[in-house]
Amino acid sequence: MVTISSDFDSGNIIPFDISDPSNLELEIKPDGKADFYQWFYYRVDGAAGQPLTMRLKNAFGASYINGWKNYNAVASYNQESWFRVESSFDGRELTIKHAPDQDIVFYAYFAPYPTARHRAYVETLKASSLLSHQVIGRTLDGQSIDYFRAGEGTREFWVIARQHPGETMGSWWMEGFLDRLSDENNAAARTLLDKATVHILPCMNLDGVRRGHLRTNAAGKDLNRAWRNASMEDCPEVFLVRERMRETGVDFFLDVHGDEAIPNNFLDNAKGIPSWNDVHEKRFERYSSQLLEISKDFQTKDGYPASAPGQANLDVANSYVAETWDCLSMTLEMPFKDAAVNPDPARGWSPERCRHFAGEHLRVMADIANFLR
Ligand code: ZN
Repeated sequence: MVTISSDFDSGNIIPFDISDPSNLELEIKPDGKADFYQWFYYRVDGAAGQPLTMRLKNAFGASYINGWKNYNAVASYNQESWFRVESSFDGRELTIKHAPDQDIVFYAYFAPYPTARHRAYVETLKASSLLSHQVIGRTLDGQSIDYFRAGEGTREFWVIARQHPGETMGSWWMEGFLDRLSDENNAAARTLLDKATVHILPCMNLDGVRRGHLRTNAAGKDLNRAWRNASMEDCPEVFLVRERMRETGVDFFLDVHGDEAIPNNFLDNAKGIPSWNDVHEKRFERYSSQLLEISKDFQTKDGYPASAPGQANLDVANSYVAETWDCLSMTLEMPFKDAAVNPDPARGWSPERCRHFAGEHLRVMADIANFLR
């Protein structure tokens, strides 16, 4: 007899019928006030030595059905080291097969990054003399929203992650980014911080993260579709950051996400905003080509098709910021699966690789700071 639970920070699963370990029937729970679902994260107890077959029965109705294609779930015994386990999708159900060799094992859509880890990390960063920390307000569930600032240069850089709570790679990337920014021996960080003031919002959607949501906050709002009309009533996370941006201005914006379907890292620019021009194009091209040069994990072939001229959705952060501040503004998408240009079959795209990739971005930011105005 095994037990299955997800009643913890970022947890998500409904045990439907778990009487037979070789046929465990599970469902993913939709975001509270919205229909989105795909994120799962649960614990299995008492299964050492037993081959488990776990059927996520409502996978066909998930938000990104192509996310299940050629996808393998992650598992861990200690929640530090995550490895891939055989998974398959038949068009209806996602089936995960694994014979754990320990009694407690966790399974998830991607290596989780719950609010407890965020809080602990924030505490360690507060000790750094190179970063200043501030709570800029509270979420609807009452969680404090952490903001960091580094450097005193004239260029205003904004970097945010986890608008979509299920995209945990954003937080792993942020660890790599903030570790380096707070390291006085990191050359790229020192170069960047001579030229720029960097504003960092490491975890936008804390309520969604704690509740185990895929995309939305406590009010059922998709933060990355709320940038024009965000209000304190249903979207304080975006409202408060936007207010800050109005005070500082923005020369550079990077919004860090994960993409369910595309098995590669890519950047999405704001082409399609009404004011898009050659200067926007050149800034983006410089960033993208520099990243391509130094990163084995980056590529420019796979990605989203550009919006038609003038048709960009200005409720999306990337487009809203580009149009409002006439600046270089991008969404970074990392894969849930693996980076096909540089595959790692055992781990796929992973926390370690997210952290490393952030260091490569930092080097490109140090260069691009000279070309923003
Ligand atoms: Zn996203």
